Amino acid sequence: MDHARGLTATYDESRRRFLQSASLAGATVESHPHPLTGMDGEALAIDVATIGPDDAPSVLVIVSGTHGVEGFTGSALQHHWLAHHADDRPAGVRVVLLHAFNPYGFAWVRRVNEDNVDLNRNFVDWEQPPPANEGYGGIAHLLVPDTWDDDTQQTTTLQLLAYAEEHGFERLQAVVSGGQYSHPTGVFYGGTGPVWSHRWLDEHLRDLVGAATRVGIVDLHTGLGPWGHGELISHVGRDDPAYRRGTAWWGEVRSMVDGESVSADLSGDWLAAADDLLADVDVTSAALEYGTVDTVSVLQSLRADAVLHASGEPLGEGADAVRAQVRAAFADDDPGWFDAVASRFDEVVGAALRELGKVPSAGDTP
Ligand SMILES: [Zn+2]
Repeated sequence: MDHARGLTATYDESRRRFLQSASLAGATVESHPHPLTGMDGEALAIDVATIGPDDAPSVLVIVSGTHGVEGFTGSALQHHWLAHHADDRPAGVRVVLLHAFNPYGFAWVRRVNEDNVDLNRNFVDWEQPPPANEGYGGIAHLLVPDTWDDDTQQTTTLQLLAYAEEHGFERLQAVVSGGQYSHPTGVFYGGTGPVWSHRWLDEHLRDLVGAATRVGIVDLHTGLGPWGHGELISHVGRDDPAYRRGTAWWGEVRSMVDGESVSADLSGDWLAAADDLLADVDVTSAALEYGTVDTVSVLQSLRADAVLHASGEPLGEGADAVRAQVRAAFADDDPGWFDAVASRFDEVVGAALRELGKVPSAGDTP
């Protein structure tokens, strides 16, 4: 097996490398099997590696693969941390590495999960009717047409560009990626209820954090922003204490709700749900979003993927080419890209560990 730096070729390789580097670093590992299997019949799981004292007052959680395919990068960064930085951990901090939050999407080289659900649109309040996205219905047939031959691609893409010209590109991004609950074979679909990974988090997040009173969460993503750049994105507004803690740790953090971020404001992201699950804890969290290719190429790959899976033949003719397109949109095998990504990761995780490692004094306010 290759323990080299950088991205692996498959979920299974990423997983094995993660488990091995966790064991070499002296971490405790717990695996939570997923009910389905990967493309080659391989087992799927959320693997959790934990390092540091059980009763630590501070915990840092680093998450990969919320968006399946984005886990190629997240897993490589977790491996990088275990191999090179596990010893830098301050004594009073426990580090929890959650590998492949959406293992099915990772293994099948998809951003979504086994239900075609975007996990970060699934954490809405299911007691209420899901949020409406009025614009989506009008362009659903353009985004995910019935076929994906060259002609259809060209016509529908031109129509989408015309929509962007008329309403603005930002409006198109908001309608497309803000989340929708009406088109199960569409893109950025939020589902009809809590999916497997969502239910898993509800059950396990509290245990991962234990008795800690301060928790940091870094959720690793790819596919938005300039090549190799890592933007920290917060799901809360600038006036929120959690946002201010984030900027104290990291400097610049972009608020998604205040419209500053490369991401559109969206419904149902899991970091917001984590705040509720850990309501009695000071949670400082951010998505770390790395840029790969341009937005249009990313969207084209997601459309191709959605059409492929809507066809019901995800292993059929042309499927490998679609998966290669998706992988290229969300993961870059250029060592220069990974160097940039890893050095930004070291900066972000290093700052979080430094802050969490400080012993709070009686007068401190969050
Ligand atoms: Zn993502």
